Amino acid sequence: MQNELRQWQHHRYSAGRMKIDGATQVVGVFGSPITHTASPAMHNAAFAALKMNWVYLPFQVAVADLRAALQGVRTMNMVGVNLTVPHKIAAVELMDEVDPEACQLGAVNTVVVANNRLVGYNTDGYGFARAIFEEFNLTLKDKRVLVLGAGGAGRAISVKCVLDGAETVWVANRTPGKAAAIQQTAGKDGVVIPIPLTNDAVRQVIGKVDLLVNATSVGLRAADSLSLDPALFTSDLYVYDTIYQPAETELLKLAHAVGAKSANGLSMLLHQGVRAFEIWTKKMAPLAKMRQALKTAVYGDPK
Ligand code: NAP
Repeated sequence: MQNELRQWQHHRYSAGRMKIDGATQVVGVFGSPITHTASPAMHNAAFAALKMNWVYLPFQVAVADLRAALQGVRTMNMVGVNLTVPHKIAAVELMDEVDPEACQLGAVNTVVVANNRLVGYNTDGYGFARAIFEEFNLTLKDKRVLVLGAGGAGRAISVKCVLDGAETVWVANRTPGKAAAIQQTAGKDGVVIPIPLTNDAVRQVIGKVDLLVNATSVGLRAADSLSLDPALFTSDLYVYDTIYQPAETELLKLAHAVGAKSANGLSMLLHQGVRAFEIWTKKMAPLAKMRQALKTAVYGDPK
């Protein structure tokens, strides 16, 4: 009987080396849908590596329930949460305080409870800039960047480029108004230039571009195509696709075919998570452990 009880307690309260008890600190992610998230694997691996009594959990939160869910973060004394689609923009209004970069990006993806106040950060821009540096040894300063897409990711990346001193940021979007809105809020005259997402428009600027970024959702499905002319790609272009599943999108295949340096969005996902971890815990994140856990969660165990 004692043995059975011990076994039951083991299954009920521990997952691998993770132990849950009355002192466990709780963080997590709110999204809808949320079942696909790889963030719990990445953060829980970090907590295990640093032997921290913390846990990261996924929460399915509907749009209409975001306010109540965020109140819950405060009232249940959670450390904080990540926010993912569709909550990042709506959350800005629900914070007691918003970090200046999150304010400029118009979106919050990391919340921390400080002195019983909800403080919002955005680590997506940081994650992107860190990823570009890690993958290509590039900083954004003085670069000419072409961003495809003006949704949440396109906006975060474009504004981060401006904040980090890019020379020009062309934003190509299917719906022109959204790229124009980024130009209006990015805060520096003449740096952001909205263009149509067409071969003709891209052809006119591609020769001046250092870095091409896909921040549209085109590529998530194997059959998806941006219908870009392969002749637009040259070997001196750096190409970053924010999509990481599939690992090689059509855009990355086109870049690969001409010998351009290219990388997928796993590094951005990793580094936005690393920054969130550091905001919550005030500890240096165990980068290698988080990278490995993320790769395994997204692409499966290499063994
Ligand atoms: P979002 O806000 O819904 O924006 C979607 C973007 O894709 C918009 O610019 C949209 O254009 C464009 N788009 C969708 N279907 C299109 C089509 N058929 N043709 C042309 N453009 C199309 O989504 P999001 O949050 O920005 O995410 C965009 C992508 O970034 C997703 O693939 C996501 O996986 C990726 N992402 C990656 C990371 C990371 O850490 N690696 C983080 C965030 C997002 P319209 O404005 O015309 O609709």
